[in-house]
Amino acid sequence: MLDKLDSDKVELDKLDVQFIPNPRCKICRSPYVHEINQMLIEGRPYSEIIAKFKDKIPGLNKQNISNHKKHFNFVRKGIEKYYEQLEQGAEKVVDSIKALDETIERSLRFLRAIDPTQKPRAWEVTTRSLLGAIKLKHQIMGDYDETEDILKEIFGEEDSEEVEE
Ligand SMILES: [Zn+2]
Repeated sequence: MLDKLDSDKVELDKLDVQFIPNPRCKICRSPYVHEINQMLIEGRPYSEIIAKFKDKIPGLNKQNISNHKKHFNFVRKGIEKYYEQLEQGAEKVVDSIKALDETIERSLRFLRAIDPTQKPRAWEVTTRSLLGAIKLKHQIMGDYDETEDILKEIFGEEDSEEVEE
């Protein structure tokens, strides 16, 4: 999935320039242009930009900012941002899967250590959280073949059918 993202991003880079300074624009001429572009990309309100830069760019007003927005490619920036967030999203998915792996691993270790006849409640709760984690991982990852083995390990061969959908 990330490979696909990277190749798409390379395509994107070929598209066009992102910033075409206009010599008549006081924002383009100012040393703060990149900082202001960044704020615009982040969707900050004009009033915030004006408040921050009014001393550095005398007479800065909403019209200046509105005109300046035409001087760099917002759509492209938006697309870049989209891919960026998509990548961050992918990392979050990886984090979730890791957390689920940890839950599965811990639950299994615990189940192996306790005797279900001695601690039926703890067994039940742990089994339930284990199955929940497995199911969630299965939902996130689609096909993966770990489930059956884990179920066999907990319930033994004969009972594994019952848990499958
Ligand atoms: Zn400009």
